[in-house]
Amino acid sequence: MKTAALPTKQTARRYNAFGQAMKDIYGLPVYKVNVDAGFTCPNRDGSVSVGGCIYCNNDSFRPNACTSAASVREQVEKGIPYLRRRYGAEKFLVYFQPFTNTYADVRTLERLYLEALDHPGVIGLAIGTRPDCVDADKIALLEDLAKDRFVLVEYGLQSVYDRTLEFINRGHDYACFKEALHMTVGRGIKVGAHLILGFPTETRDEMLAMADVLSELPVGFLKVHQLQVIRETALADLFRDKPFPTFGYEEYIAMVAEFLERLSPDIVIQRLFASAPEEILIAPVWNRTRSQFLLDLDRFMQERESYQGMRRALPG
Ligand code: SF4
Repeated sequence: MKTAALPTKQTARRYNAFGQAMKDIYGLPVYKVNVDAGFTCPNRDGSVSVGGCIYCNNDSFRPNACTSAASVREQVEKGIPYLRRRYGAEKFLVYFQPFTNTYADVRTLERLYLEALDHPGVIGLAIGTRPDCVDADKIALLEDLAKDRFVLVEYGLQSVYDRTLEFINRGHDYACFKEALHMTVGRGIKVGAHLILGFPTETRDEMLAMADVLSELPVGFLKVHQLQVIRETALADLFRDKPFPTFGYEEYIAMVAEFLERLSPDIVIQRLFASAPEEILIAPVWNRTRSQFLLDLDRFMQERESYQGMRRALPG
């Protein structure tokens, strides 16, 4: 069995990190400006379901600065000077993050995306959505925008196991994700997936096996993070009535290291850690910041001489 060699581009971290990948392309760090375009979600408004995914509380990932009361243009114009002052940032991706950011007719989407792109510092878009919320017209729009911009569509998948998708009331199955993927690849659009590790419906081995599965798919970008039990969610009720194990901090670091070892080195890592505000987080409570986590992960991977793709079996 052959295994992947240490990727030559890996510099500061032992995996293919998004920040470095963007710097390699654009020559400078690229910063995300988060916007809330006022979308809702078919898994909440009744089109698919009213309950939403059982872990979902959008307050856990909506930064205070972005609000749908302001237009996309206003949010971009407010977000960019802040990032410039704070980090000396020069290039930006507008990130359509909360809820389902392709959940509107194609003309509305075009207007919102063009508004976001209409700023000299903006080099492209990152669009978080559900795999059941794209169609041929929306993909054609994204393909058109991607001709001269960076356009990344991030599909929420969360798990490749249908029993988990059912448990979390995701409202679509794994086959739906694969259909969306095949509709999107080969069109100049970058494709990402979002996974959560730690659902009580999966064993540790099954979670790790998702790295093998994703590595075989045409996915270029990945966000993965620990399951968090957040207040005012159906998962919080389940957890209260019948507590289930959540990751310990060290345990999760080991899990992520192993996951990365099995993951294709070509997949760019956008996220490895979730950090819901402490006032709404029930479990697991680690009291660690994202930067502490990334340092501890680096240290752990260094000690084990570990890097992304090292345990990935290559054909032949
Ligand atoms: S996690 Fe996303 S898809 Fe699920 S209910 Fe929340 S906004 Fe909708």
